[in-house]
Amino acid sequence: MFSFFSVFSYLQWLTLAFSFVLKPVALDNPQSSITNEVETPSSGWRITNTKGKPLTGRFLHITDMHPDEFYRDGATVDHYCHDYKHASANSKSSKAGFLSPGPGFECDSSPSLINKTLDWFSKHIENDYGGIDFIIWTGDNSRHDNDNHFPRTKSEIITSNEKIVDKMIETFPDVPIVAAIGNNDVYPHNIMEGGSSSMTQALAGAWDALIPTQEKHVFEKGGYYMVEVIPHRLAVIAFNSLYFSTKNAAVDGCPKKDPDDPGSFHIRWLRIQFLLLRQRKMNAWLASHVPPTRDQWYIDCYDAFADLLYEFRDVIVGQLYGHMNINHFVFLEFNKPPVDTSTLQSRDLEVATAQPKYVKTLIENQYGELPFVPDKPSSKFMDETVGKFSLASVGGSIVPEMFPNFRIYTYNTSGLNPRPSDLDGNVVVSDSFPKNYTSLVDELFEDKTTEDNEDLFISNYESMKKNSKRKKKKKKNHRKKKIQPGALGPAYVPMTFTPLSFQQIFLNTSDYMDATSETEVDYKLLYDSRDQPYNMPSLTVPDYMRLARRIAGVCESKKKKKKRRYREITYTYLWHAYIGALPRLGDPDDF
Ligand SMILES: [Zn+2]
Repeated sequence: MFSFFSVFSYLQWLTLAFSFVLKPVALDNPQSSITNEVETPSSGWRITNTKGKPLTGRFLHITDMHPDEFYRDGATVDHYCHDYKHASANSKSSKAGFLSPGPGFECDSSPSLINKTLDWFSKHIENDYGGIDFIIWTGDNSRHDNDNHFPRTKSEIITSNEKIVDKMIETFPDVPIVAAIGNNDVYPHNIMEGGSSSMTQALAGAWDALIPTQEKHVFEKGGYYMVEVIPHRLAVIAFNSLYFSTKNAAVDGCPKKDPDDPGSFHIRWLRIQFLLLRQRKMNAWLASHVPPTRDQWYIDCYDAFADLLYEFRDVIVGQLYGHMNINHFVFLEFNKPPVDTSTLQSRDLEVATAQPKYVKTLIENQYGELPFVPDKPSSKFMDETVGKFSLASVGGSIVPEMFPNFRIYTYNTSGLNPRPSDLDGNVVVSDSFPKNYTSLVDELFEDKTTEDNEDLFISNYESMKKNSKRKKKKKKNHRKKKIQPGALGPAYVPMTFTPLSFQQIFLNTSDYMDATSETEVDYKLLYDSRDQPYNMPSLTVPDYMRLARRIAGVCESKKKKKKRRYREITYTYLWHAYIGALPRLGDPDDF
């Protein structure tokens, strides 16, 4: 059973969270155009992140660092780059280097790769990339539990998390870091029960410096929390996708009949956060480890989550995930099942590599089937068609199975001026609780399955159609979801916080096979989303929908819809997705 803290204490800490006083913020002139520059303040006021650092309009997304203390320079790659004294290792096998074994091997990150990556951050992010305002860090801060000779323990996971969190804070002292739990940050991996446990308490300890005081209680109960990265303006919600993950056998996958399931409860918690953010006119990024795809999320969790994305499209700026090592994006569509990424129809797209199937099927089954988005879509089309899609971006990893890589995003900081009432710099936040807040919370937290609630949750998934009872019920009532979505927000229309571009930065580990402790490694810019062949004007959902169709080689005219021609951009996208693991596509320097 999942016993959560009472509504009373929940309200208590929320009240705490809302009772602070607005700090002075910048008073620069209103900017009508989209810009990434924060103007020099005309007075002493400056817009800052939560740690008081003036905004740069950039943030970092990093994921899957997987530091491995058992990594050994010179060990064979046959055994996860671990040291074996016995003779079973194949003498002809590749050997792990000081930094990494190079791409293509199942080894976690050497301590030197982690340290040199963080050194690179210290030296280059501020100086060469203009600095960042916050970090979204999507999990797996411990090695994989894949070697029977070196079984992982709970305390090892916690120690690994403590060490890497300390290093990240040391590297980025003036930047809020929002970390989400990875499936390898718990013991045993993938498995997490609802409610407070020794695991969540230990993780809360390891992440103590990252979690705001008022969020600690909820983190200990569910492993999720929210951080305001720009005070009163922008938040990052680190949600716990392990409660939605099909690999987590300790939960039931958001069943409609059990409101106490940790996933169902998590969905309700998310809904409350969105309602409060909307009330406060704030926006939020969603960050988690396991991306919302057909094979990885329980279907009912996916359905309930997709409902939230649609309902709160005015609040949500975007979603970032890790876990898969593959750089790619996937759309969620309101009231539609997740895309099938298991059946590939055509053989047109020939790429020689180990595991290219997933992104290829995504291109074929989703990108190529998206509606055509004209350059100047009508507001009706935007609202009723584009507005039903939301975008999940999955980041590449530091773990050197492919080339270690991460992204620096830029976002629109125009319009970040204080509201008139803030001008005296010391005004208590006016956007407090909605008047009906208590009843709102009561309703959401009550364990009831009313007709209305069922309405809200009825899904049309193929898999559920197999369930004849539900099918009958649905047919009989002709129920439709009664969701009133918010206005199109920064994910759809250029405005404050709209993501504008990203730079994909990578380390060509093949160039560092002779590295020593003295070697200085240099992460390099692989590409910018504004560059050829992507040429993305910004990173809104309609921009991504247009890009997706180009990647799928779908002709613009409706007549020729079915005819696809894979182009350079398709291969470039695949190369960038499986960075370093597609040798046939050539060297990254060639692009
Ligand atoms: Zn993972």
